[in-house]
Amino acid sequence: MSTLGTVAKTVLRRRYLRQDENGTVVETPDELFHRVARDVASAEEAFGGDADAVEAAFYDALSGLDFLPNSPTLMNAGTDIEQLAACFVLPIEDSLDSIFTALKQAALVHQSGGGTGFAFSNLRPQGDVVLKTGGVASGPVSFMQIFDSATEQIKQGGRRRGANMAVLDATHPDIERFVTAKADEGTLRNFNLSVGTDEPFWEAYDSGARYDLVNPRTGAVVDQMDPADVLARIAEMAWATGDPGMLFLDTINEHNPTPALGRLEATNPCGEVPLLPYEACVLGSINLATHTADGEVDWAKLRETVHLAVRFLDDAIERSAFPVSETDEIMNANRKIGLGVMGFHDMLVDLRIPYATSDAVEFGRDLMSFVHDESWAASRDLAEERGPFPNWADSTRERPMRNATTTTIAPTGTISLIAGCSASIEPIYNVAYTKHVLGGLAVVNDRFVDMAKERGFYSEDLLEAVHGRTSIQDVEEIPDDVKPLFQTAHDVSGAHHLRVQAAFQDHVDNAVSKTVNLPQSASIGDVEDLFLTARDLGLKGVTVFRSGAKSEQVLGDDPRK
Ligand code: ADP
Repeated sequence: MSTLGTVAKTVLRRRYLRQDENGTVVETPDELFHRVARDVASAEEAFGGDADAVEAAFYDALSGLDFLPNSPTLMNAGTDIEQLAACFVLPIEDSLDSIFTALKQAALVHQSGGGTGFAFSNLRPQGDVVLKTGGVASGPVSFMQIFDSATEQIKQGGRRRGANMAVLDATHPDIERFVTAKADEGTLRNFNLSVGTDEPFWEAYDSGARYDLVNPRTGAVVDQMDPADVLARIAEMAWATGDPGMLFLDTINEHNPTPALGRLEATNPCGEVPLLPYEACVLGSINLATHTADGEVDWAKLRETVHLAVRFLDDAIERSAFPVSETDEIMNANRKIGLGVMGFHDMLVDLRIPYATSDAVEFGRDLMSFVHDESWAASRDLAEERGPFPNWADSTRERPMRNATTTTIAPTGTISLIAGCSASIEPIYNVAYTKHVLGGLAVVNDRFVDMAKERGFYSEDLLEAVHGRTSIQDVEEIPDDVKPLFQTAHDVSGAHHLRVQAAFQDHVDNAVSKTVNLPQSASIGDVEDLFLTARDLGLKGVTVFRSGAKSEQVLGDDPRK
């Protein structure tokens, strides 16, 4: 078993290790890894596999911190709440019955540790008629408040609050209200917002035309808007608060592996998994930081971990009990999994490639291409063993696969803390800082410290000098060839963040969660430009966060806090 750092131990103790009814921790980290490995591997029995051998391999990968599944798997596998997926999308139709059914289903998902996404686009707009009562409708944004309050009250077994994504189509008459819904600090704090756009919106934008706002209840065009005005408003709010982001729904649906089952209209809370109504996804991330040796990528080990991880995630679907029966059905039929990576920046440091370079972008693309190809190979192997996902014949997948999708880039907000690596494909935020959510723990970047010692520029004073800084580029004691390796989120331009996102998106079935950081001095125009660049790059969605903007992204655990 790898040695866990203080942060990892603290996070595990607070949120993951089993507790008795008095809240006393009754499990060690090693026992946790055994519990998860044993439970997930037990799925092998149904397919005539060697559950003991697979359990041992899972245990080695988990305890070696080579691969970690999403938080619900770590918390729930082998317990009474055997719900292992992080991501859900629930449908909402234009009736009180449907709205409150979704509210109840969301509560059950949150209680089990999952996050929910919804398209609110089918709801009739504010002020529209309610035939039954002769009253007026409250509209999507006020119903979102109800979901927000409910989320606030459900503490996921005391471990964390739930998280939601609300999507509203740009053609909805309440779009302006939606875009500005988080203008007041503290409102909808358990929601991320995304405006759904499609080709007609962008064609109108390109030609300087207006586009139609349509009442979803009647299909009637009720108004027209200038898409440039809507984009400007989105950019203004994103500049001020970080919300909303945008989704490119046509791009998402071009890559929908099961178009016969309907259109993808919403994503999970952090945007990395577009899902059909009721669909869920079990995520897992490979820690790239443990896949280098002597300054090179250990490709053989990486291949092995990818294959094992795909098996793990498919087994996890088998083991998981979902809180909503419709989810059970569609999960068994599509079997979507989302394998991704974390520790990308750590790997770049080992390879001596600075994050903010074209080399890093091209390396990221090649790396993800490898992970993706190997994950498909693994899923095809599983299809031979266990049969393809039941909707395969109706899908866009040419050869039999066990899973409709295999890859995703998740934020890894908490699991990267357990693995002790840089989050997801993000640049580091600091080389040394105090982690307030963990009671003021001091955290230092091991690679930075090792390099400082090796190169002879280490001192206590240096650590103090860099502590809490969001950039070390002007710290004199650090040699000029070392500085670029530790570029932080603040040293990286918004455009570069997007290029990294696009490079990974090229080889990801689902989507990529990426925070596109901008300096405080960025203008509203800069934000608008980034949205346009994201569209040009063929991204599925984009979220921009300007330093100092008001609201926080709803994340499991923001690595920056
Ligand atoms: P983790 O590191 O805890 O596994 P991530 O930060 O990678 O999680 O987030 C992955 C997904 O997990 C999110 O997109 C979301 O669907 C879900 N998720 C994250 N945090 C929460 C939360 N507090 N409540 C509910 N779901 C969450």
